[in-house]
Amino acid sequence: MVDILRAMTLAVTEQRLCDRIASRGSELLRDLAAHVAIPTGHDHQPGLARYRDLLAARLKSLGAGVEILTGRPRPRWLGPELADDSSFTPPVLVARTVANSATPGVLIVGHMDTVHDPRGSFQTLSVSSDGRIASGPGAVDMKGGIVIALAALEALAAEGVELAWTLALNSDEETGSFSSDSVLRALAREHEVGLVLEPALPGGALAIERMGSGQFMIEVFGRAAHVGRDFAKGVSAVHELGRIIAKAADLAKPQSGRIVNVGPLRGGSATNIVADYAACWGNVRYADAAAGEALARALEALGTPGDELPRVAVHRGWNRPAKPLTPGTEQLALAARAVAEDLGQSLPFEKTGGVCDGNNLQDEGLPVIDTLGVRGGNLHRTDEFVEVASLIERCQLLAVLMARLAGGAVRIKPAAAAARRGSKRR
Ligand SMILES: [Zn+2]
Repeated sequence: MVDILRAMTLAVTEQRLCDRIASRGSELLRDLAAHVAIPTGHDHQPGLARYRDLLAARLKSLGAGVEILTGRPRPRWLGPELADDSSFTPPVLVARTVANSATPGVLIVGHMDTVHDPRGSFQTLSVSSDGRIASGPGAVDMKGGIVIALAALEALAAEGVELAWTLALNSDEETGSFSSDSVLRALAREHEVGLVLEPALPGGALAIERMGSGQFMIEVFGRAAHVGRDFAKGVSAVHELGRIIAKAADLAKPQSGRIVNVGPLRGGSATNIVADYAACWGNVRYADAAAGEALARALEALGTPGDELPRVAVHRGWNRPAKPLTPGTEQLALAARAVAEDLGQSLPFEKTGGVCDGNNLQDEGLPVIDTLGVRGGNLHRTDEFVEVASLIERCQLLAVLMARLAGGAVRIKPAAAAARRGSKRR
């Protein structure tokens, strides 16, 4: 019965795309195992290079032109959770088809990096005995998303669906895209629609609104002194940092869309020496641009102007603007939901405090939906998993959505395009 209904709502080409993808189910799982087995966490450059080569070869065989672009160097203060090599500028793989100017430019965005330790014990994909779950580093966030994007593009090419697409895969999303942001924003300005392969929210939901996010670091400089002999001459950076942290934490007003989290910390060298240096790192989340600005001003006010000790320096980078629901993004989300329903799937909408490259792409005025990847769970943990059935289902969703964009069945309203051209925030 379901199949009859599907046949009534899917166009012939769409049905062929779905059949083609369904016939490749075991290949998708094999691809995922191969992608997962390449370690790409913690700026692991040999792994990132290997993964890039594998993806570039697949994309070239689709006739795409492939280039490796580098963005800006990351700010050095970003600190301790990043890899030691601050000179590393994580590259972006950009593959473009020879554009047919009659079809809308679709920008597909994903990230090759994971959060997983390349030297840890969680290295390969393992499939549960019932075949329903596959667990591995980056399986859902987001190597599964990359696997289905490749398969969807290959299916479209095999069925002769013409679409002007660009696939951009960065290597620093998990650390905030500080380096790749300039590359992605430039691409956003050149395209009409954005599709991001982040994992689906629980239950397969699509995120349609996101909070913004920013990173900060507070440094305190004091004066060292021996605790027993010269305590009065010392100025403790650690004691001052404690007071500063209490003030920073007080800025959080979660009910009003302002979140402040402090940690990790560093400070002092021995218990019998007054600490001359202490620092903390932190993260803020904000519901909208005004809340983000208010947090920025309040944190900056914790800094001291002169050289007097204790001296406090505040560094910050609000790297993810808030992503409110815009008319263009809503239209795209509704188009994706229509595809899901025609496929016998459901696509609920949700808001989230999580952030991704979709925040920044929409900030350039691009209508973008950003949880089109696979379903799974336990992201960023060593039991991260993907629901195996979602490889086919979400690949079909992506392919049919792109086919409808190509065929003009989904058109982003002129108003949305105008808003994009007019958008010049920050
Ligand atoms: Zn991700």
